[in-house]
Amino acid sequence: MIDPFGRAITYLRVSVTDRCDLRCVYCMAEDMTFLPKRDLLTLEELDRLCAAFIRLGTTKIRITGGEPLVRRDVMQLFGSLGERLGGGLEELTVTTNGTQLAKHAETLAKVGVRRINVSLDTLDPALFGQITRWGKIEQVLDGVFAAKAAGLAIKINAVAMKGVNEDQFDGMLAWCGEHGFDLCLIETMPMGDITGDRTAQYLPLSMVRSRLRKTWTLEDTDYKTGGPARYFDVQETGQRVGFITPMTHNFCESCNRVRLTCTGTLYMCLGQDDAADFRSVLRDGSSDAELEEAIQAAIARKPKGHDFIIDRRQERPSIARHMSVTGG
Ligand code: SAM
Ligand code: SF4
Repeated sequence: MIDPFGRAITYLRVSVTDRCDLRCVYCMAEDMTFLPKRDLLTLEELDRLCAAFIRLGTTKIRITGGEPLVRRDVMQLFGSLGERLGGGLEELTVTTNGTQLAKHAETLAKVGVRRINVSLDTLDPALFGQITRWGKIEQVLDGVFAAKAAGLAIKINAVAMKGVNEDQFDGMLAWCGEHGFDLCLIETMPMGDITGDRTAQYLPLSMVRSRLRKTWTLEDTDYKTGGPARYFDVQETGQRVGFITPMTHNFCESCNRVRLTCTGTLYMCLGQDDAADFRSVLRDGSSDAELEEAIQAAIARKPKGHDFIIDRRQERPSIARHMSVTGG
């Protein structure tokens, strides 16, 4: 699948639920209304759609959410997608908040998942409770170490927030180094109504990086994971630190991915509203060939890039949907 700007689309992110057991302040409002279950694609429909993407050249699938591991029986989907590894699919992975990982880490490893991303914005238990509104950090740490014990490579993702966790990153880099994890820092993106002031949260990562350089030797590397992060080797720890900077650096030129929501809507860009509906295609008796045609038609509409802006006058997000819809 080649889009109109010559980019090969090889990476599909699949949100399997909009629900979550946490309410991170930058992601959700406390009183979120979730979708009725009947609106969701079944696990079989998700598998059929993923299979069509794989036939068309998708080599990497990331399962996300909401919190993917809270969806009932989601391990069935990991199992069926795991069987597609080697047959076109090269990598199956997951982004999780880690709360349910202790339960699922071994199964994930067994079905063929090799690397996972765990979102963790601080190592401070009280601050973790504030950022997630009610999360217990011990649950996440148990999950992280269960995943490590199961042999999964771990990347910790942290959203950088001004005045909230900006003093945490030296400690987190040291902790990641100690345990063999990579760390990836992410700028906050203006998505969804979150009942808070986003402009106050925004922290440019260029600033974080120069602060980290006071303590750590960051060496350029061309390491790539297929995502938009720019990585550096941390000489002192032997691990890597990555930076995802959608707001300060245009990461669209090398975009290789599209995002499927749990209701079967395909967003061709995280930062644009255009979308294609696949639930109706899956449910109207279309053949696999027709499904593939619909996917090709959607890819042909992939836009050149996002135009995130924080609307400072109105303090409205530039994209109305929450990150939990498309899974980041
Ligand atoms: N629940 C899972 C988790 O937290 O890892 C998967 C879904 S979550 C929406 C995916 C990623 O998006 C997380 O790393 C989260 O921190 C990030 N995220 C959520 N809202 C964001 C925002 N407004 N700006 C930047 N990153 C955001
Ligand atoms: Fe849930 Fe992940 Fe959003 Fe936090 S970032 S509220 S864990 S979906």
